Amino acid sequence: MSAHLTTVAGVAVNTRHWIGGERVASTGTFTDVSPIDGSTLGEIARGTAREAAAAVSAAKAAFPGWAATPRAERARILHAIADGVDKRLEDLAIVETCDNGALLRSHRRGVMPRVAHNFRFFADWLLRLDHEDFQTRGHTNHVSWDPAGPCVLITPWNAPLMLATWKVAPALAAGDTVVLKPAEWSPLTASLLADIAAEAGLPAGVLNVVQGYGSEIGDALTSHPDVRRISFTGSVPTAQRIAASAAANLTPLSLELGGKSPLLVFADADLDLAVDLAVEQYDNAGQVCLAATRILVEDAVAEEFTARFAEKAARLKQGDPRDEATDIGPNIHPRQVEKIDGFVRRALAAGARAVVGGHRGDGLYYAPTLLTDVAQDAEIVQEEVFGPVLTLQTFTTEEEAVRLANDTRFGLAATVATGDRERAERVTAHLVAGTVWVNCFFVRDLQAPFGGSRQSGVGREGGTWSFDFYCDVKNTVTAP
Ligand code: NAD
Repeated sequence: MSAHLTTVAGVAVNTRHWIGGERVASTGTFTDVSPIDGSTLGEIARGTAREAAAAVSAAKAAFPGWAATPRAERARILHAIADGVDKRLEDLAIVETCDNGALLRSHRRGVMPRVAHNFRFFADWLLRLDHEDFQTRGHTNHVSWDPAGPCVLITPWNAPLMLATWKVAPALAAGDTVVLKPAEWSPLTASLLADIAAEAGLPAGVLNVVQGYGSEIGDALTSHPDVRRISFTGSVPTAQRIAASAAANLTPLSLELGGKSPLLVFADADLDLAVDLAVEQYDNAGQVCLAATRILVEDAVAEEFTARFAEKAARLKQGDPRDEATDIGPNIHPRQVEKIDGFVRRALAAGARAVVGGHRGDGLYYAPTLLTDVAQDAEIVQEEVFGPVLTLQTFTTEEEAVRLANDTRFGLAATVATGDRERAERVTAHLVAGTVWVNCFFVRDLQAPFGGSRQSGVGREGGTWSFDFYCDVKNTVTAP
């Protein structure tokens, strides 16, 4: 095997950057480790400002050609990428699982098919995106969606390829060129995507993939003056740094950030459903931005809900994410497990009670945890843990439920369990969140806007909202 290829579960993955249609090395590397067993997956190119400049320059050089490519041809290539994803679905699924520890069964049946869908969806949406015309005193206004230029896309590790393709697909569809930097804890499937895109006929330089640390190559990318859009998914502190870098060039930003979302369970809810919704929050070992980590239950049913929840949570099988029977895999990194445990220990010291879990497991596994007896202003109620840790608080009135739900600096999502439609309408009208689910969770249609209020983000992704971001929208007024 050549020095720039590593083999993960039998799949060859290139460890170098993909810049201007070529594999490019860096002088340094970093070690990519599997959260499943701590094994080394590869020595990955550690990008610097030099590779950042090369990638932006490649994206800039490729931009005029790609922007001028007819929409139908761009859409055809995006469909070919989707077909390539389908063809390599098994490879992508197992490599992603080895890299970030999320369940293989979810990657196979949910995530990777959706990755392919992301390309098809934005290709088709592009073809439906209308140029609008309207009249003003006999003058014609012609509104067009013009490609904007090179985009820097920076993504986290909790759903690497899914989150990357929510950005890559609309940016490419819009006629923009891309520099994608995946997270250093999960760099591999982005490299496979570069192979798939090249094979699908995407011209050189249209999609570039660079690897490395955020503080090194990430910073160089976001402060580059030739970048026309920055789209970032990740944490609030990183977003604040990126926003400061972008400010120097006034580069437009899309920010998809963290959350501390509530699940409101009213006494009139179908309790089986409510318990299912609550237990679902342990998916991906709690490493889901949208996770409803604050369970708010009406007094009258709190005891029964808690008992049923504990019983159901106890049945979850924690273990190797490659095993089909596993429900919860490991957390991503020793540093992350330390962080999770720190939150839980401080909460317990402050008087919280662990109804479920409350401790580490072996290796990078953390026991699914439910904490009660927590104060509204406690750290565990206000800060994002990003692990399998939920809190439970009770309320008496609808007003109190809404007040507790909104008492956070975040506003990504909220879930309401109730059997009363009128109550659902009243409550959802008052919740501050980018997405509100009623008696369901995680239903996401790409046509819908997705994003956060308050510190959960800036802007929206999905359907026309994505094109609104990735295009320079232009109005041309022509005299009669
Ligand atoms: P993070 O902010 O630490 O890192 C995200 C990415 O930013 C990585 O690729 C990292 O290398 C890069 N980065 C770090 N410093 C940088 C810098 N100075 N300049 C440029 N890039 C830099 O976040 P994380 O720990 O990888 O992800 C977890 C966070 O992401 C959580 O807060 C979670 O809620 C959030 N998230 C949000 C969504 C959403 O859609 N709203 C989805 C998934 C995750």
